[in-house]
Order: sequence, then C-alpha cells, then structure tokens
Amino acid sequence: MNEFEVYALCYGRRTGFRGEHFLGYDGNSAEPHPTAYYVWLAVSPAHTVLVDAGIRAERAREIPGLDYVEPVRLLAELGVGPEAVDHVVLTHLHYDHCGTVARFPAARVVVQRSEVDYWTGPWAKRIERERWLLDEAVLEDLRADPVDGDVEVVPGLSVHLVGGHTAGMQVVRVETGSGPVVLASDASHFHENIETDRPAPLLHSMPGVYGAFDRVRELAGSGPVVPGHDPEVLARYPPVADRIVRISGTSGS
Ligand SMILES: [Zn+2]
Repeated sequence: MNEFEVYALCYGRRTGFRGEHFLGYDGNSAEPHPTAYYVWLAVSPAHTVLVDAGIRAERAREIPGLDYVEPVRLLAELGVGPEAVDHVVLTHLHYDHCGTVARFPAARVVVQRSEVDYWTGPWAKRIERERWLLDEAVLEDLRADPVDGDVEVVPGLSVHLVGGHTAGMQVVRVETGSGPVVLASDASHFHENIETDRPAPLLHSMPGVYGAFDRVRELAGSGPVVPGHDPEVLARYPPVADRIVRISGTSGS
C-alpha cells in the first residue's frame, strides 16, 4: 500500500557547457555538455505525487535551444491528469523546478519554509546572480504548505532538508518494491557531481552542498540516487514512453 512506482519525465533538453555544471574553471569547462530537465512522478495505490513542476511554457520559449514539452503532457502519457495529483513536492523554487505548479489545483504543495523565506526575504532581491533563477509569477501565486526539516509527506514518501544548492533545498526519499529511491534533484545536478564530490557553480552554501552529498548517500543506502539534470538517467533506466523512464523496480545504480 505504501510502496511507490517512480518515474523520471524529461520535459526539456538543451546543450550547455561543462563549466555551467562543475565548479572550478578547468581545461574542459568550455566543452559542450548535454543537459536534461525533469519532473518525477511517484504513484502508490493511495497517492499520486509529483516532484517538481518544471518550467512555465511562457518562460521556456525564452530559453534559446531548449527542446521543451509541457510536464502535464508527459503526465498524460502515463494516464495521469493534473487533477489526479494530490501532492506536489517542490525540491526548491528555481524557475525550472516550480514553473507549472498552478496546473495542479487539487494538490497540497510541499516546500521548505526556509526556501520560501529566502525568496521572499531581503537577500534574494539584492543578489543579482541568484534572482534570475526565480520565477516571480510563480512565487506571487504560490499556495504552499511550508514544512520544516525532515517530514513524512505521505506514508512511504518523505522530504529531507539539505540546503546547499538553495537555502531550503530538499530531497525526496521514496519507498518502492525494490527498496528506497532518492530524488536528489539539484542537490546533485549530474551523477558526476556527487560521484566525484564536485559541486555545481550555482550554489547558496558550499559546505551545504557537501553536506547534501553525504545526506543523499545516507538516505539512499544501496538504492539509486537520481540527479536533477543528467541525460544519463534516460539511458540508465528502462523507457516506458518517449522521454519517460521507470526508476523503481530496477536495480539502478
Ligand atoms: Zn536549481
């Protein structure tokens, strides 16, 4: 009853540069680096939980070279209508993770209080290098249920405050029939970030990022860690439709 199936839905693709994803300029920083954008779906007999909500269509059109499909269209491929989603967990409030949250009117929206406080507080208005990452239209209309720290959202699915990437970054641990899955989202943009202990350049707190790596590993145990922007996710897990793979029920890595 409390076991979930977990899917990764790739709503966007573009080619960035390695230097955008790995802190510390080096000889490879200018190399092209394919980047993917995901929402994740966790379904149990009792609950349908969307983790993150992707980019708003209007904003997606402003991003050069972004190959974009609205997240609701990918959910439809899995037979899930927006009204069927009872919880939306927002790992953090960057524009590419919360953009379509208003499309899920029946959902309880779970976000860390420290994340909301940061984006509505004095620093985010002043720190130019972070402010572009916000979707102000989403923040204005956000009907969120703020939580503090580590919380079981529904039986079998919990959120864990890790910080680092943003002030209130949270990761999601999901119980599946084959053990736990950790949706790291931008606590590790790529497998390579956590596997080589190398943060991404966009970060709120450097010690926080390293602490998040440790916490994600601890939460996952021997189960898979699913990064936020790695195209490799689509290759590592079995496809169920175009742009959609099933994370649970596989051995993963
Ligand atoms: Zn982010």
